[in-house]
Amino acid sequence: MIVPFGDLKRQYARIGAELDAALHRSVASGWYILGSEVQAFEQEFAAYCGADHCIAVASGFDALYLALAGLGIGHGDEVITVANACVYQVAAILQTGATPVLVDVDPTCHNLDPERLEAAITPRTRAIMPVHLYGRLAPMTAINAIAARHNLAVVEDAAQAHGAWAATAEGTPRRAGSWGVCACFSFYPSKNLGALGDGGALVTNDAALAEQLRRLRFYGWGSKYVATEAGGRNSRLDELQAAVLRVKLRYLDQWNALRRERAAWYADLLSDAPLELPPDAPGHIYHLYVIASDRRNALRDHLVAAGIGCDVHYPMPVHLQPAYAHLGYRAGALPVTERQAERILSLPLFPELTRAEVDQVAAALRSGGQQQ
Ligand SMILES: *Cc1c(COP(=O)(O)O)cnc(C)c1O
Repeated sequence: MIVPFGDLKRQYARIGAELDAALHRSVASGWYILGSEVQAFEQEFAAYCGADHCIAVASGFDALYLALAGLGIGHGDEVITVANACVYQVAAILQTGATPVLVDVDPTCHNLDPERLEAAITPRTRAIMPVHLYGRLAPMTAINAIAARHNLAVVEDAAQAHGAWAATAEGTPRRAGSWGVCACFSFYPSKNLGALGDGGALVTNDAALAEQLRRLRFYGWGSKYVATEAGGRNSRLDELQAAVLRVKLRYLDQWNALRRERAAWYADLLSDAPLELPPDAPGHIYHLYVIASDRRNALRDHLVAAGIGCDVHYPMPVHLQPAYAHLGYRAGALPVTERQAERILSLPLFPELTRAEVDQVAAALRSGGQQQ
């Protein structure tokens, strides 16, 4: 039996009738850009995240860029981020004209290591962009405390963390999107909340920033045909995609719970296997289930030979990518990031994955783990 890494056809099989109705309603309305569906989705998603404002845009990448541009970050500024999430943050920072400064991650949760943050701050630092990688919140209490001490903006990359949460120091649970000055989401189809194409959003409690972001996503227009901001773009979420996302948002908590259930199955089945399993946290929503092993490549080959889809998120840290050699980081500069890139392996994990499939993946990993 083949076990796919992901399978969005199964999701469509479950909620297809609702999606079809939403699509039809949107097509028949005759209004396709920035209309009632986008407006309703923005309200619903802001409320879901625990934020006052949501600005829907064309992609998660645009959200990252617009967040920085909206905060006025550009030439001469530095933004601190991590190097283990492909190139999204670094490319967005460079597009503003600012300089990315990379810090290492912690070896078990793969998120920005607050212990290393303060040393990376300089008089030019303007913002910190932590990533809630794999669906687990970065250590936001510690990051926010350091940011407050140095008067820096925190922009969450929440593209893998729709509905993920953690407790504040006072014990109040808060979702991704309610920790930084603003947060960026992607609705790429395979994310926990995915459109039928590209989409993204920013959420914020800052009304002035929200207004600025609305202008920047729409040519810099302050009112119709009147540009009050230079450097605006065209970055809008389609009405069709907003209609789809409104349907799917109603399922998000249920889907995240199903992901957590499957993660618990893996944890149970693999508890005595010679593998590092992702440490659980109550608010972890397992966008990806990522294990680690010194024998990663052999395990990956073994799973592929057994018909099991798997992947590596991500195999090459940003500072070692050919396009970013000019940033000046050498191999060895971020030892944890570099070591983990060679050890991590993402297993199939999605809400419709069956118990039999999880059993099969675990059995294959156990037999692969025995071969030396
Ligand atoms: C997917 C993703 C992005 C980019 O989102 P797009 O919608 O594909 O532009 C950015 N950051 C992270 C962490 C992501 O996983």
